[in-house]
Amino acid sequence: MLKIVTDRDAFLRLTSQQSVGFVPTMGNLHAGHLSLCAQSQAENDVTVVSIFVNPTQFNESSDFEKYPRTLEADKKLLAEQGVDYLFLPTREWLYADGYEIKITENALSTELEGECRPGHFDGMLTVVMKLLQCVQPQRAYFGEKDYQQLLLVKKMAAALFLPVEIKGCAIVRAEDSLALSSRNSRLTPMQREKAAHFPRLLMSGEAPETIREALEALHFKVDYIALKWQRLLGAVWVDDIRLIDNVPYPMTKG
Ligand code: AMP
Repeated sequence: MLKIVTDRDAFLRLTSQQSVGFVPTMGNLHAGHLSLCAQSQAENDVTVVSIFVNPTQFNESSDFEKYPRTLEADKKLLAEQGVDYLFLPTREWLYADGYEIKITENALSTELEGECRPGHFDGMLTVVMKLLQCVQPQRAYFGEKDYQQLLLVKKMAAALFLPVEIKGCAIVRAEDSLALSSRNSRLTPMQREKAAHFPRLLMSGEAPETIREALEALHFKVDYIALKWQRLLGAVWVDDIRLIDNVPYPMTKG
């Protein structure tokens, strides 16, 4: 039975004999989120998922407002998946300080996504810190889809001696290779067809500059294509929808 929780009391009562795995999300759940849940369920006694569309990590208020919110369908998916707790904090409760306390990382967070989305990682790290303090899990699960985010959360946990193991989970893709993402639901069929070129080009094994040129020839607006951390990472726009993705690089053939 999925139990719905709106503040931290329920988690503080979880017995210390039980291991707790935590999957923070912004909802509009898909198979990518559920793969994180499955890994948590395999490794812990209790799995907690949070859904919170975090206003402080959005650069544009229109992007925040348009973010898909599908709570009833999400609850159903979590119940079917056998998740134990759904944490639904309110904005007023989570940000009772008015976001006057925040977490800032000053190196890794300044490039790639951080450069394109000023303040995004402050908002992300701050909300993850708050959520971890509420749920107090032994393990927390993050997708490699948001690779820079995963590295930053690991870095924060180490720097602040958080008693949690941060686990990275493989990217789940659709049949057309597009990484599953809540933002994909906003793509029209034509936009979707175009979007599928993005992962395929990332996986082509070509050099970053060649991939950028190929994307631009297809009329994508390219924020970056960059080789870092033995991954090829990219961010592009299909009209007003921003997509990010990454693949291991060099690609392992076979
Ligand atoms: P979001 O709800 O987009 O904030 O994502 C919540 C978590 O799910 C993050 O750790 C994401 O990296 C992860 N995630 C989102 N999409 C995927 C995917 N296609 N495959 C694996 N993990 C994902």
